Amino acid sequence: MSEIAKPFHLVRASDGPDDELSRLRAELDARNRQETAMAELGQAALTGVDPLILLGQVCALVELTLRVSHSRALEITPGGRMILRAALGANATFLHCGRDEDEDESIGMVTLLADSPFTFSNLEEETRFKGTHLRNYHGVRSGAGVVIRTQHGPFGVLLAYCNDERTFTDYELAFLRASADIAGQAITRARAERALEEREKRFRTIVEKSWSGVVLLDANTHFSFTGSSTHHLIGYDEHELIGRSIFEFVHPRDVTVARQVFDEILTSPNKEAHGELRFRHKNGAWVWLEGFGQNLLQEPSVGAIVINYRDVSQRKETEKQLEYRAYYDSLTSLPNRLLFRDRLVNSLAHARRNRVGLAVMYLDVDHFKLVNDGLGHNFGDKLLADIAHRLQGALRASDTISRIGGDEFSILLPEVTNAEAVAGVARKILDSLSNPFSVDGHDLFVTASIGISCFPADGDDVETLLKCADAAMYRAKELGRNQAQLFTASMNERYVRRLALEQHLHHAIERDQLELWYQPIYDRARRRVVSLEALLRWRDPNRGLVQPSEFITLAEETGLIVPIGEWALRTACMQLREWHRQGIATLRMAVNISAVQLQQRGLVDVVRAALAAAGLAPEMLQLEITESTAMQNFELTVSVLEELRAMGVSVAVDDFGTGQSSLIYLKHFPIDVVKIDKEFLREVTSNDTAAAIVSYVINLAHTLQLRVVAEGVETEEQYTFLKHYGCDLIQGYLFSPPLPAADVFPFLQRTLWRPKTLEVKRPEA
Ligand code: C2E
Ligand code: MG
Ligand code: MG
Repeated sequence: MSEIAKPFHLVRASDGPDDELSRLRAELDARNRQETAMAELGQAALTGVDPLILLGQVCALVELTLRVSHSRALEITPGGRMILRAALGANATFLHCGRDEDEDESIGMVTLLADSPFTFSNLEEETRFKGTHLRNYHGVRSGAGVVIRTQHGPFGVLLAYCNDERTFTDYELAFLRASADIAGQAITRARAERALEEREKRFRTIVEKSWSGVVLLDANTHFSFTGSSTHHLIGYDEHELIGRSIFEFVHPRDVTVARQVFDEILTSPNKEAHGELRFRHKNGAWVWLEGFGQNLLQEPSVGAIVINYRDVSQRKETEKQLEYRAYYDSLTSLPNRLLFRDRLVNSLAHARRNRVGLAVMYLDVDHFKLVNDGLGHNFGDKLLADIAHRLQGALRASDTISRIGGDEFSILLPEVTNAEAVAGVARKILDSLSNPFSVDGHDLFVTASIGISCFPADGDDVETLLKCADAAMYRAKELGRNQAQLFTASMNERYVRRLALEQHLHHAIERDQLELWYQPIYDRARRRVVSLEALLRWRDPNRGLVQPSEFITLAEETGLIVPIGEWALRTACMQLREWHRQGIATLRMAVNISAVQLQQRGLVDVVRAALAAAGLAPEMLQLEITESTAMQNFELTVSVLEELRAMGVSVAVDDFGTGQSSLIYLKHFPIDVVKIDKEFLREVTSNDTAAAIVSYVINLAHTLQLRVVAEGVETEEQYTFLKHYGCDLIQGYLFSPPLPAADVFPFLQRTLWRPKTLEVKRPEA
């Protein structure tokens, strides 16, 4: 630009030295024109006229000022070619035509490479430009070119063509360059503006289309502006919000928090704050909005609190679901273990402060595993959901019942006054289960065992209370289930013992610590021992001989009973085979089968394999299942028993009378033998009811063509009674306790299978 400001002479080939005055006038004229044009051009460049129009103006300026025949502006394309952007010629014949392009381009390229004003004075000689068309058709003889530069590199070239042989002066070239510079600056600017515009446009589209919105509030938290996405986000048009307080729309429960946030924003200029609240959508629904607010009240260009917000309802919903999943059991919708602990911690703190008591219960559904294994997990799940529902109905809203896993529930009674009250609740809970459950057409009786611990009597922290309740629950199981037990100090010991026992039992099989003892069963009519019942013993190196009452339940609960039971079956069969070989070939064997084994799919195969391995006929084996086992899962049990009996194995119902089943059930049951429980035998001579029951059972069994075994016969009075009512088989200490395998054969030989002493003393009537 500075060069342009300098005065300069226009040199024209046609100017004669004698015409000095007119030459000066012409020069003055030219300078005026030039200055005016430059001012115009500068103005146009500054006001941001379209670069293409500007290029046209530049061409016109060049043509007018330098009095060249015509001028052209070419742009370099991204592909490296040059295309014409503007062309102007004083010579009316010089209309731009297609053939110019190639020649323009090559002159442009040379200009670009020269990187400084480039001139050519005799196009005819400069054959390398291939300017034949320009010369022949347009009469171009000479010219000049400069590069149009922008901030980001060359934009193109500005060319000036003359129809005479012309030498450009430095001033003319400087002018040409200055014009190109102005054009370059204008293009730079225009491009920047266009980029900015595009960015703004893009931004605007993003804002319009996005889920976020912006509103402005005044110092009273009244809407003063709402962006266009407001309608989309919260349903309102601007006129419905302007002038109203934002608090008219905030959910009552979020007002306090929202006020705090706004107070914070209002008290400190430029302060940014973040908050979430429920906002009333125009359709009446509450939507969760997350907002970022900034106090720009003092900012002159804004003068408002600016809130950027977006709808986070979806996220809130997901969070809610996640929280629900973290704290609730999906099957029963009850709180889970985590939430239970939380509530227990809080209740304990409350109880301590207010000096009140609280109680914790552990509830375990009795024999639930059997239901699950026998009828399938789907069925089990449905039953559990029903159970949970009933349990919940037995409690008050302030109590917490949670499912802590499998068939276990824990219950928190947050304020209790005395143990009787707690026992009352426990009774209510057990009662709630007393009616049968109907699931998928099955009617099921469900019972549960409950252990209870109390604060502060049994412990004053979460762990201890839970542990005590758990120990009490196990005691309830041991005592026959379907009951509640309050924790007592002695249970702790049992609990520890139980844990140790469980660990040791795991090793009992592999370490060969299990034994079978055999108790003879005497047939009154044939007057001899006809069979033996195999009874488990565990020889624990530390504790000596452990009775089944101490570990069978545990083995059932842990599933260990399956391998243990199989072992017992195989061992008993092998042992019987051995005695057969020693000469007592009609001796039979009774083996106890746990309910858990009965639910195992392959029980029949296991039995078949044990018989085959020992080479025994199935008729030699009798399986004993307890009455409660048989009743638990009637249909499944019946089908398994039928299969066993079809094979030739006989079946006995053990401990008959202890379960709640009706005697009528016997009719529907595929069995051969009924074993009357020893509890009845104990009272048979002292209690009329017991006596009536036993005699009735014997009669009924006989009617149904079943044989009857009396277990636990200890006295001669009992024996007499049984004989009177025609009981078929006798098992008990009176005759023989269970014996280790080694003592059985000598015993049988000694008695010649026949309890002579007994029969001599009490000969048959
Ligand atoms: P159970 O099948 O009813 O066995 C009879 C129980 O009565 C045996 O107890 C036996 O020792 C005991 N008994 C026999 N005669 C008398 C008597 O005159 N008076 C008294 N008071 N008791 C007598 P044991 O051996 O302690 O077995 C207890 C229970 O453990 C068995 O009851 C049975 O249910 C279970 N059990 C034993 N062995 C096995 C086994 O291999 N598998 C399974 N699943 N359970 C077994
Ligand atoms: Mg038995
Ligand atoms: Mg029994």
